Amino acid sequence: MTAPAKTSAATLANLAKLGIRHRADLLLHLPIRYEDETRLAPIDTAEPGETVQVEGIITHAEVLFKPRRILVCRLQDSSGELYLRFLNFYPSQIKLLSVGNRIRAAGEVRMGYYGLEMVHPKCRVVNDETPLQTCLTPVYPTTAGLSQTALRKLIANALEVITAPELLPEKFRTQLQLPGFIESIRLLHHPDADIAEGSLHDRSHPAWQRIKFDELLAQQLSMRVHHRERSQRISPALTLKKHYTDALLKILPFALTRAQQKVFLEISHDLEKPHPMQRLLLGDVGSGKTIVAALAALQAIENDYQVALMAPTEILAEQHYLKLSDWLAPLGIAPVWLSGSLKKKDKRLACDKIASGETLLAIGTHALFQEQVTFHKLGLAIVDEQHKFGVQQRLALHAKGKTNDAGLKSGLQVAEPHQLMMSATPIPRTLAMSYYADLDVSVIDELPPGRTPVITKLISDTRRGEVFERVRSACLTGQQAYWVCPLIDESEVLQLQSALETHQLLTETFPELRIGLVHGKMDSAEKVRVMASFKAGELQVLVATTVIEVGVDVPNASLMVIDHSERMGLAQLHQLRGRVGRGATQSLCILLYQKPLSELSRTRLKIIFENTDGFAIAEQDLQLRGPGELLGARQSGMAMLRFADIETDEDLLNHARIVADELLRDYPEAARNYLRRWIANKHDYLHV
Ligand code: ADP
Ligand code: MG
Repeated sequence: MTAPAKTSAATLANLAKLGIRHRADLLLHLPIRYEDETRLAPIDTAEPGETVQVEGIITHAEVLFKPRRILVCRLQDSSGELYLRFLNFYPSQIKLLSVGNRIRAAGEVRMGYYGLEMVHPKCRVVNDETPLQTCLTPVYPTTAGLSQTALRKLIANALEVITAPELLPEKFRTQLQLPGFIESIRLLHHPDADIAEGSLHDRSHPAWQRIKFDELLAQQLSMRVHHRERSQRISPALTLKKHYTDALLKILPFALTRAQQKVFLEISHDLEKPHPMQRLLLGDVGSGKTIVAALAALQAIENDYQVALMAPTEILAEQHYLKLSDWLAPLGIAPVWLSGSLKKKDKRLACDKIASGETLLAIGTHALFQEQVTFHKLGLAIVDEQHKFGVQQRLALHAKGKTNDAGLKSGLQVAEPHQLMMSATPIPRTLAMSYYADLDVSVIDELPPGRTPVITKLISDTRRGEVFERVRSACLTGQQAYWVCPLIDESEVLQLQSALETHQLLTETFPELRIGLVHGKMDSAEKVRVMASFKAGELQVLVATTVIEVGVDVPNASLMVIDHSERMGLAQLHQLRGRVGRGATQSLCILLYQKPLSELSRTRLKIIFENTDGFAIAEQDLQLRGPGELLGARQSGMAMLRFADIETDEDLLNHARIVADELLRDYPEAARNYLRRWIANKHDYLHV
């Protein structure tokens, strides 16, 4: 860091904690609030709760022991008096606050034991001529060991010595009516007292607009650059030989929808390129993403490359394993199964097959990217329900491809696998544009034909008996039903208990029905057995915890009861409801709820009742919860925005997107400098 010579190592360490590594970073360390030391309030006008600055003479000072040492002083001006109280103090402060001294004190006034008081005000000795501050005093986010005063000094100094050139071309500044960079920075550090503090606080002031715009622009630039940079990295070019892919299409019992064909084409083109694909496949629940993944896998396999297909839960991974085994058996391809719960011996066997290249398709949970798994020649990594995975996990899988593939090392560059991520949690457009700008996105925008939309009913818990009857009559006509047990404060134990109880109650009430139970605490062989017998129709009702939330596909199931639906989030409700409506029969989803409903629960249930389109639901979810919660902190890029807010600054974001493209095209130097100013230390976040 090019800091002043006198900055101590301890200070540097503290600054680093605040993300300040270069002196220029100090400029972007902006105040969280301000103190007004530009005027003096007569003591008798100060109201409890108000933060003011007063000035007067110390008329009394003493150190009391009640029970701890405290320093109490009385400060008097021509209008009245108040007390200054200190619980921790140094001898130097006692001296500063001696009787007769003229003191300027700033702090919050409150009603105390003796009358009006300030606790730990900021004090200094003044005389008649000491000028008032001319601008608001900044209060910075800081860390233990680094005082406000020290930080203020460092920043004020940086503002004086650093020249921060204007990077935004005049053209855009005029177009968007944004003030200059350095003048905005100066203003935000030291605003004039007459600026409406509200506009600083809610960041609507033009200076804030400029800084937020710059931040968003830098983010957009970085994602675009990352996107471009990908075209310089190397991956195996997997040509569509139509050997296996066509063979699979021939034996499928259905034809691909137009949307499925379109997205497979997009993926297929990407795979043919010698650069890594990083594509997100979005498609609503039930839109048929699995077959698209299977085709992509076959394209890699046709080229003798390995494929890893990873799913977030064992149930879903297992289901993929069974389905793909079934689809691919006629082609002579047998996937290998790998999950954490495999016996040691079986795991070793699976790992051996993966390492030797004997198997070309590995399906499993995140066990697939644990250290002991080494791929012989990984060409494609597919991650299903990617929103359930953390960035770290995806990175780990990504790193897999870089091992053991001597054949593809070209110079210093090592080939990396293509990546296909799939998600049924549709991301609203604005979010997708800002957080996934470094990914390519394919969307399946239609459901396979022959689906009848699911009917949703909201039923109060008091009518539970009727719902039981409903389950029974559905089963008697040959249908199958899920009964999903509530989330209980995220407690697995309680969730399990409620599942056990419901299972018992249903079994006792309907001895004539075959009722199964599946939950997260079961061992995996048991889970698989239960799922298989539900799928085969041997079980008529499946009582389940939310382990069945994602991916589970049993087309004959047409009744879904969600118990205590008021406790679940919108995405979860939509996913669960998506487990039915997969066959031709009319499906019904009953949302059992318990009163009283909170405002939020009521709104959620209303949204889920009125909407069936996952994208529409996600848009409304965004409005309800904000993007942070929707995407989860696990998503990359989130921590990156310090000042702008994706939701309230949507307009700025849209401008930033347009300007980013123009800047890269017409002002590459400015684009580079933008990245240097804003992203330099933080570019790691992008390497997903
Ligand atoms: P999701 O996108 O939620 O992962 P799946 O891939 O599980 O959806 O597909 C849902 C169901 O639709 C599966 O039973 C699948 O076999 C079936 N399916 C997929 N594509 C088609 C199609 N084009 N025509 C008819 N059924 C299809
Ligand atoms: Mg799926």
